[in-house]
Amino acid sequence: MSQQEHKCPINAARVTLHEFYYSEDPKTMMCSKCHPCKLGIYDAIKLIETIQAGGGDGSHVALLRRVADDVKVGGMCKKGKDNADILAALLNEHEEDLERHVKGVCTSRECTPLVTYEINPALCTNCDKCREVCPSFAVEGQKKEPYRTGFLPYRIRQKRCSHCGECITVCPEGAVYVVEEKELERHEVGT
Ligand code: SF4
Ligand code: SF4
Ligand code: SF4
Repeated sequence: MSQQEHKCPINAARVTLHEFYYSEDPKTMMCSKCHPCKLGIYDAIKLIETIQAGGGDGSHVALLRRVADDVKVGGMCKKGKDNADILAALLNEHEEDLERHVKGVCTSRECTPLVTYEINPALCTNCDKCREVCPSFAVEGQKKEPYRTGFLPYRIRQKRCSHCGECITVCPEGAVYVVEEKELERHEVGT
């Protein structure tokens, strides 16, 4: 997926900085001649990765801002400064998106650790397909059997879920769904 295809601005910025940092093309690569760019861009990638993994807070955003300023001032060439501008644009134009990520939500659903899946019991037919494919043993429930009643309803144990999305792919009833931001907030208040 090229950078332009990333809907999530946080992910798109990380991909761009990553390509710059690890590129081997002399035209686009970082030359590592000056410390603000060499260390700063690496730090920025790691900070963004932390936010995308759900471990971000305000201090990560503040550090990103500092890196953007340092690379812009201390970078010795246009390539470094251009990447500082990409970081600054993320911080200035996508502040709300960053805040949502820090709260644990990626609206574009690209930062997979920040996508929460749930099962709608009204649609679930206890077919067991989601439990069978789950690589993390995160789905609980009892498969329906003929002439028996009282089956344990299906649910996802969030702490075990690795957010792979397999369950939503296989569910034949559309019973697995992505929790929307507002709903997630209610979950947090209620738990
Ligand atoms: S700012 Fe330019 S000179 Fe400095 S490390 Fe980055 S690419 Fe090299
Ligand atoms: S998203 Fe993946 S890990 Fe999480 S419950 Fe579904 S199948 Fe299991
Ligand atoms: S795959 Fe869907 S219908 Fe089947 S048990 Fe899982 S949630 Fe229920």
